[in-house]
Amino acid sequence: ATPTALLVGTGRGAQLGILIKGPEVLERTRAIDTVVLDKTGTVTAGRMELTDVLLPAGISDETAARRDALRLAAAVERRAEHPVAAAIVQAAEADPASAAGADGVGGDGVPIGSDEVFDFRAEAGRGVVGVVRTAHAGLGMGRRVLVGRLGWLDEQGVDTASLRASVADAEGQGGTAVVVAWDGVARAVLVVRDPVKDTSALALDELRALGLRPVLLTGDNPGAARAVAREVGIPDEDVIARVMPEDKVAVVERLRAQGRTVAMVGDGVNDAAALASADLGLAMGTGTDVAIEASDVTLVRGDLRSAPQAVRLSRATLRIIR
Ligand code: ADP
Ligand code: MG
Repeated sequence: ATPTALLVGTGRGAQLGILIKGPEVLERTRAIDTVVLDKTGTVTAGRMELTDVLLPAGISDETAARRDALRLAAAVERRAEHPVAAAIVQAAEADPASAAGADGVGGDGVPIGSDEVFDFRAEAGRGVVGVVRTAHAGLGMGRRVLVGRLGWLDEQGVDTASLRASVADAEGQGGTAVVVAWDGVARAVLVVRDPVKDTSALALDELRALGLRPVLLTGDNPGAARAVAREVGIPDEDVIARVMPEDKVAVVERLRAQGRTVAMVGDGVNDAAALASADLGLAMGTGTDVAIEASDVTLVRGDLRSAPQAVRLSRATLRIIR
């Protein structure tokens, strides 16, 4: 009877869009007391939008400075796979001063996609770098462009002094701020935002109602992380921000060492190791294959409410057995 009930449970899960790798997973689900949630793409939509371009003080032609920053950032980000990258590429393509040839100086109508990038490198949780050769007038040949978080650019020897305060401001207001630099100098801050999914707050209420403690885990800055946490009712003390992809596992392990039984919900390549090391890994079906493969459960609908539903399913199934 026991295996039968578990099979019925997994079958019921499949109907609900909760794909469970094996019947034994349901038993593990029952013991969970803590749920670690990745922010980007799990609690938020993962569709970032560029909301601001901040320039250093004293720039004479702001339109041109903004256009150049967007264009060179987009050229490099086109190669990257990150919601921040997608937001920048989309904004550059939509920028009238950039591709459409709106002004006589640089607006030569050269499509952004025609810019060439050499020596591209993406550093997970930090940013991207590449040498850009563009036909776009005024930008010259072979500029080494970096786009990423301020601390990483500092490590790369970029002079970021003129934009440090702008980054702090944007992050304090809940934005995700990345800096674009070339020729060793920071040129602009690109501020992106990622809306919370409208189902996330409900999902968090349900998790708490089941007696589970939610923890928000992200590589993003504390300001952006807390803004999201507040929207879904997670207190600041349960927000763990600016965690490098390789350190997410350590956070899960630390919680386990404190005696907690941890489920992790994530979607990204950068979540895979933590998903595998958690007592229970749940991947958003909308996420990357790597995350799905590393997990015990796939939430096909990409709706965070499937997480509490999975816990309820497990508890109901195991009640039948006992
Ligand atoms: P999350 O945990 O929110 O998915 P990541 O660990 O992927 O975050 O990234 C953390 C931070 O690293 C981002 O908020 C951003 O500042 C920076 N970053 C990562 N990838 C890129 C990129 N392609 N371009 C610019 N910045 C990036
Ligand atoms: Mg994510």
